[in-house]
Amino acid sequence: MKVTVAKTAGFCFGVKRAVEKVYAEADGTGGPIYTYGPIIHNESVVKDLEERGVRVIGTPAELEKLERGTVIIRSHGVGRDIYRLIEERGLKLVDATCPFVLKIHRIVEKESRAGRQIVIIGNRNHPEVEGIMGWCEGTAEVIETKEEAENLTVKQNAKLCVVSQTTFNNNKFKNLVEIIAEKGYDSNVINTICSATDERQREAAEIAAQAGAMIVIGGRQSSNTQKLFEICKKRCENTYYIQTLKDLEQTIIPPVDCVGITAGASTPNQIIKEVQKYVRNEF
Ligand code: SF4
Repeated sequence: MKVTVAKTAGFCFGVKRAVEKVYAEADGTGGPIYTYGPIIHNESVVKDLEERGVRVIGTPAELEKLERGTVIIRSHGVGRDIYRLIEERGLKLVDATCPFVLKIHRIVEKESRAGRQIVIIGNRNHPEVEGIMGWCEGTAEVIETKEEAENLTVKQNAKLCVVSQTTFNNNKFKNLVEIIAEKGYDSNVINTICSATDERQREAAEIAAQAGAMIVIGGRQSSNTQKLFEICKKRCENTYYIQTLKDLEQTIIPPVDCVGITAGASTPNQIIKEVQKYVRNEF
């Protein structure tokens, strides 16, 4: 049986960088260490870091209670207020925001100051989008669906600046931008989708189209893994979403000639290797 593992499976550049920064801090002797939100959507990594003394906090109220220590901002980034709070509390900041996300912060900060209405194409509940919103002067419009794009109304003669959540689907972004363009606003559209996501999705689609069964590895909360699963499922009926090898061991997969494997951006290499080994030996 043929097993094809996606070359793009696992940590992307931004996640790898963020995880390495946390481990480097945990190995130092710098006092209490906190990550603002789980560093990645992977329970085993978060648990391992916990055992090394890294605690997860998630709200400004929790930040306000800290007397000392280091706060690490994860790759998703945060709004301006959180930076301010960390500074006010006299805490050490380690900024692991992905440079591609930082670039969006700078764009929306500049463009909103210049008077443009910011429109973010993405999921309003995703921490990355919340962080981007936190860099806008005034409010930002967030659009995720066709209906929301159709219903977008901003004041007459408003100038727009349209950006995207880095993990948004490229085709969906283009479709939504087209709907907004029909409204005739003066729009500055900046496609800020990360190519890592795009390449991962494209490769997953190609492998799934050839595979008899497809395994997608990643955390349940990971939006990029959920999207990978959707893409693969469309092309391969026998697509399975697993978090760890344990899930695969409890799954009955029909006999097939070719199994494809891909993984979301928060999946450690170790899990991908374990799954690959298991598939080669057991199927
Ligand atoms: Fe950065 Fe792209 Fe990874 Fe997001 S997916 S953390 S933008 S490299």
